[in-house]
Amino acid sequence: MSFFSVSHQSSKSKARCGTIQTDHGSIQTPAFVPVGTKGTIKSLTQQHIAELHVQLSFVNTYHLVIHPGVKVLESAGGVHQYAKYTIPLMSDSGGFQVFSLAQQNKKRVGILRGSDTAVGTLATPFDTKEQPLVEKISDDGVLFRSVYDGQLINFTPETSMDFQKIIGADINMAFDECTYYSATHEYAEKAMKRTHEWLKRCIFHREHFATDSVTTLPPNSAPRLGRDARVLGGPSDRATCRTRNQYLYGIIQGGTFEDLRKQSAEFVVAQNTPGIAIGGVSVGETKEEMRSQVKWVAPFLPTDRPVHLLGVGQVDDIVDLVKYGIDTFDCVEPTRLARMGRVYNTKNVLRYVETCYSASLQEEYVFDFDINNAVYKSDLSPLDEHCTCSTCVNYSKSYLHHLFKQRELLGYTLITYHNLFVMEKLMEQVRILIEQDKV
Ligand SMILES: [Zn+2]
Repeated sequence: MSFFSVSHQSSKSKARCGTIQTDHGSIQTPAFVPVGTKGTIKSLTQQHIAELHVQLSFVNTYHLVIHPGVKVLESAGGVHQYAKYTIPLMSDSGGFQVFSLAQQNKKRVGILRGSDTAVGTLATPFDTKEQPLVEKISDDGVLFRSVYDGQLINFTPETSMDFQKIIGADINMAFDECTYYSATHEYAEKAMKRTHEWLKRCIFHREHFATDSVTTLPPNSAPRLGRDARVLGGPSDRATCRTRNQYLYGIIQGGTFEDLRKQSAEFVVAQNTPGIAIGGVSVGETKEEMRSQVKWVAPFLPTDRPVHLLGVGQVDDIVDLVKYGIDTFDCVEPTRLARMGRVYNTKNVLRYVETCYSASLQEEYVFDFDINNAVYKSDLSPLDEHCTCSTCVNYSKSYLHHLFKQRELLGYTLITYHNLFVMEKLMEQVRILIEQDKV
C-alpha cells in the first residue's frame, strides 16, 4: 500500500478523501491533528485518545529537544515508546518555534499558532520562561541556549532531521524559516530562499544518514513500508523503533506575497518529498489573508501526495480549505479553548458544515460557549445535549461549571475530551460530504 492514496476526488472542487498509511496505522483524510506539544495532548491519557479515535497527533521538536532532551528520548526508543502513543505522530522541524520565539526576544508579539503551551489565555501563548536565549541566527541555522540547563543547542537542517529521527514521529517536517507577519517582501523572499536551500539539505542529510526514512519518492513508485509495528509498548518495541519509516514533508513559505507563495510551491513540490506542508500561515494575519495564501498555491499542489496545513484548524477554516486540497490540519484551538472552559457546540458546528456546502443562506454560527458563565451554575442538563461523548452522557453543565470555578483539573480533561470528539465528528461529516460531491 502506498503512503497516500485518494479514494474519492470531488467533482466539485479539489477536495478529496484519502488514506495516509504509516507504520503506526492509517489516517482517513481529511483529518484534524490535535497538538500534543510536549508528547502529551494536555490532560488526556492514551486511553482517551484511543476512545476518541484520534488518528494523528502533532509533537513539537523544539519543546522535546529542550525537555526531556534527545538523550532521554533516544534511550526510551522515541516518543511513541516514551509516551506510550499507539497512533501515528507528526513532528514539526523546530523552525517555527525557534524563529518565532527568537523574534519575540526582540519584540513581544502574540502568535496564536504553534505549540500548545498556554493554559487559559490566547493572548500570550508562549511561556516567557521558555523563550530561547538566541546566540546566533545565520544561513546555517539557529544557535540558542536552553533555558533549563544553559546547554547550547544548534538547530540546522541537519540537526532538525537528526532530532526528528530520534523523536521517531511518522511524519516529519523539513527545517524552515517561518516568516513573521509584518515581514517585507524583501525579507520574505530571503527567508523563502533560505527555506528552499534548507529543504535540499534536509533531503540530502536524510538520504545519506537515515537509511530507513522516506525522503523523496522515486518516480512512479510508492514508498516502501516497514513491518507492521502498530502495537507499542511490548518488549520488542524498542528494537523495532529504528526500523520504522519516517516521511518527510517539504514546507511552502513566502509570507503574505502571492508571487513568493507560488514560487515556493513550485520549488517545494518539485523536490518530490512524500508530503507537502504549507507553513508560515496564521501568524497574525487576518483569516482572509491566511486563506488567500492557501488558495494561491492550490493549483500547484500535488494530486498524489498528502498536503498538510500547519497551525490552522478552526471549524470555518477547515470547512473552507478542504476545497483546495488540504488533507490534514493541526491546531491548538480545541484543546486550548477547552482549558479555558470553552465548549464546542455540536449542533452549531455540524449545521455550519451542512449549510456551507449546500450554499444556503449563511447564518452566523457561534461554535462554542463558555462554561464559566454564571447561567450554568444550576443547569443540570447535559454539557451538550447534541453530543454523545462520555463527558456529555455523564456530566451536566452545572458540574463542569463547578469544576472550572473551583479550578479542579478534571474539568480540563472532560472538556478537552468533548471538544476533540466534536472535531472528529466534524471531520467525519466533511469526509461524507466530499464523497457525495457536495464539497
Ligand atoms: Zn460531548
